[in-house]
Amino acid sequence: MSVITATLKSHRHIDGDIYKGIRLYEKGGIEVLESFAQSEPGEYTVIVSHGEERRKVTLTFARDKRDVEFYRCYCTRRYKSPPLCKHVVAAILQIQGGISESKLEKIDLGKIGYSDTIVNSANVAATVESGALEVFATPAMIALMEKAACSCIADGLEAGETSVGTAVDITHMAPTPIGVKVEAEAKLGAVFGRRLEFTVTAYDCDEKGERKTQIGSGKHSRVIVDEVKFMSRLQK
Ligand SMILES: [Zn+2]
Repeated sequence: MSVITATLKSHRHIDGDIYKGIRLYEKGGIEVLESFAQSEPGEYTVIVSHGEERRKVTLTFARDKRDVEFYRCYCTRRYKSPPLCKHVVAAILQIQGGISESKLEKIDLGKIGYSDTIVNSANVAATVESGALEVFATPAMIALMEKAACSCIADGLEAGETSVGTAVDITHMAPTPIGVKVEAEAKLGAVFGRRLEFTVTAYDCDEKGERKTQIGSGKHSRVIVDEVKFMSRLQK
């Protein structure tokens, strides 16, 4: 079972890093240096070579190499929660033995989910206390992006399943005043076992409600969980 799915191949335009990672894997030259895979979770150190360039990737898998719990690459070392890079994609494919079918077949890669809101006194920075001004709050924009990601996968979840947000790496580029409509969209770029990677964007709109300018963009990760198990673990 997988991680990067077969359908991804037909959606190569959706995410540059994933496409490049598949190409790197297909070219070969990936060396698994160490593994502590006998124990769960399995830890791997992988060297991904690309011409002269060599990148060290550290990966931790759980559940029989299906789910990636942790990854780090030298090229994204400056990030606290690193975005996906082509080296990580290639390393995962190397360890998993290639591209195979996803468990989450009903969730289409490349699918886009949407959400919108009107900037109002409840979602401005002054109220949310993320700032002092009466402009759309960054946390409210992130929440709107998460909502778009949820709506993107809503049809693909089994009964009793839901998703939780695990990482955001967002840039908020422009302020939006009260009364203006904001739209967010989330595009599903990759499925890593139960982990989903989205590219997210937000726009402000004109008086007719049509998109005007991009106000935010970034990456977002979610993990599919069993609602009951997830909540019962918290109560222990
Ligand atoms: Zn990298």
